[in-house]
Amino acid sequence: MQRLLLATTNPGKLEELRALLAPLPVQLTDPGAIGLDLEVEEDGADYAANATVKASAFSQASGLWSLADDTGLEVDALGGAPGLHSRRVAGSDPERRQRLLTLLSPYPHPWTAVFRCAVALASPDGTLAVAHGECPGEILPAARGTGGFGYDPLFLVSGTKLTMAELSLEEKNRVSHRARAVRAILPEIVARVQFS
Ligand code: IMP
Repeated sequence: MQRLLLATTNPGKLEELRALLAPLPVQLTDPGAIGLDLEVEEDGADYAANATVKASAFSQASGLWSLADDTGLEVDALGGAPGLHSRRVAGSDPERRQRLLTLLSPYPHPWTAVFRCAVALASPDGTLAVAHGECPGEILPAARGTGGFGYDPLFLVSGTKLTMAELSLEEKNRVSHRARAVRAILPEIVARVQFS
């Protein structure tokens, strides 16, 4: 069975990606499992560029097909920030959430927002595919829920009364930006990785 490297060390992303890709006839692995320690600079012009750089770097370093994701939270009142630079906001997840609430405090509710995600699939010979997904919602003034990671406890999912952190893994994987992007790239994984 072909192996597919999930090019992230974020435990939350890994758990979601493993569940989303579990039905595929490919063997999933991750950097820790193959002893690969790689830091990739995320200075691309958009999410797709960052995901592509990560997928390509991990694929080159491992010799395996690799799937990478790049995500940003875009908040309307902040002109789309933190957005592409979400990763550069220093600190732990709770510190980043607090910083976001502090930035938003002068603005009237609702604090509408969207998670945007790009996933990229790369092979060592340079083959590439990219797909996108997004999830609209609203930033709440206080955290709710214990699931997920990052900004999830502050993010009320549109059309529901629940934050991303109040959803189970299965529920988050039905509606999230990452789940939508992964579902969009599934045919590429099936066609390319499985039969390479
Ligand atoms: P990156 O995709 O690892 O660059 O993530 C950028 C920022 O967005 C980090 O602060 C992450 O914690 C946060 N983030 C990424 N994906 C999610 C998600 O699915 N839910 C909540 N926060 C996320």
